[in-house]
Amino acid sequence: MMILNRPDEIRPLLKKYAERQIALPCFCAENTFTMEGILFGAQNAAERSMLDEVVVYIAATGNYHGRQQLKNYTSLNSTEEGFYAFRSDLERLARNDGPFADIKVIPSLDHGQPGLDDELFQKGKDFWGCVMYDCSTMSLDKNRMMTGEFVRRWRDQFVIEGCVDEITEAGDGGMKLTVPADARKFLDETGVDLVVVNLGTEHRATAAQLRYRSDIAKDIYNLTGQKLVLHGTSSLSKDDLKSLRHDGIAKVNIWTVLETKTSQDMIVSLLRQIGDILPADRIEELIKDDWLGENVVKANRKYKPTLTYLTEVYRRTELKVPSVARMVSEFIGVLSGTDL
Ligand SMILES: [Zn+2]
Repeated sequence: MMILNRPDEIRPLLKKYAERQIALPCFCAENTFTMEGILFGAQNAAERSMLDEVVVYIAATGNYHGRQQLKNYTSLNSTEEGFYAFRSDLERLARNDGPFADIKVIPSLDHGQPGLDDELFQKGKDFWGCVMYDCSTMSLDKNRMMTGEFVRRWRDQFVIEGCVDEITEAGDGGMKLTVPADARKFLDETGVDLVVVNLGTEHRATAAQLRYRSDIAKDIYNLTGQKLVLHGTSSLSKDDLKSLRHDGIAKVNIWTVLETKTSQDMIVSLLRQIGDILPADRIEELIKDDWLGENVVKANRKYKPTLTYLTEVYRRTELKVPSVARMVSEFIGVLSGTDL
C-alpha cells in the first residue's frame, strides 16, 4: 500500500529520514488539481534524481480558523463532503496499481482543532497517517496538557504533531519565537512525534517580519533531534530551504505558493491567449474601456475563440497541474538535498 496511514509503518520511516537529515515535505491541497500536481511533481522528482523512494505528506486543514481547506475542497462548502472527496481522490490516485504507485503518501490533517475537529479525528481514524493537534491559542501549560491527552488517546492511530507555539497578545504581533527548552519540555511531556516551532516564518507574521531563524532552529535541534516542523514556508529563499534539513527540520509544510503562483501564471497565460478565448466584440470593449491595450490587437490578429482554450482541460492539464508539479518537484529536490 502506497498510502501510509499506520503509525507503526510511518514511525520507522521518520526515524530513517531523521538519521539521514532529510526534511520531508508536506503539501496541502484544497482541490483535485493540486493533489494531482503534487503526485506528478513527486513522481518527476523520483525519476529526475533516481530516488528509490519518495515520501510526501499530503494534507488539508479542517475547521482551522486560518483556512478551511476541506470545506474548500468541493463547491458544496462542507467539511464533510470535502473530507470524503479528499480521501477518495487520494485513495484513487495513490492506489497500488495506479499511476503514482511509486510515491509513498502520508495523508495528514493539518491544524487539527480541539473540539471543532473531533469528528474529523474520528471519521478519519483509519485514513489520516499524521494529525497535527493545534493548541497554540492556549497557554503553553494548557497546550502541553491537552496535547498529552490527545497523544494518549490517539498515538496508536496517528503520528502526532504538536505545536509548541503560543499566540500572544498584540504588541509583538504574535511573533514569539520558540524557546529551545520549551520545545524539549513539550516533547518530553506530551510524547508527540513531531513539534511545530516558531522560527520567524509563522503564518501570523506580516511579510516585513518574516525571517527564518536558522540559529534558533539549531539550538532547538541540539536538544530535540530531527523532530521539528516548519510552517509558513512559502516565503523562504532557496538558500534557507536548503539549510532546513541540517537545522533539525523533519517536516516542512507548503501550501500558499502552490495556489498563488499557479493562479498568477495562469492569468498571464490566459491574457496572452486572449484572442483564442474572447470574441472580437468583447476584446474591443475591453480595449475601449482601457482594460486592455492596443498590443492585444497586434498580438492576436484573428480573435477566434476556440474550444481548446475554453475548457477546464486546458486550464487544468496545460496550466495548473504542471505549475504545481514543477514547484513540488523543486521543493522535494531542495529538501532532500538531491537538487542539482
Ligand atoms: Zn500551518
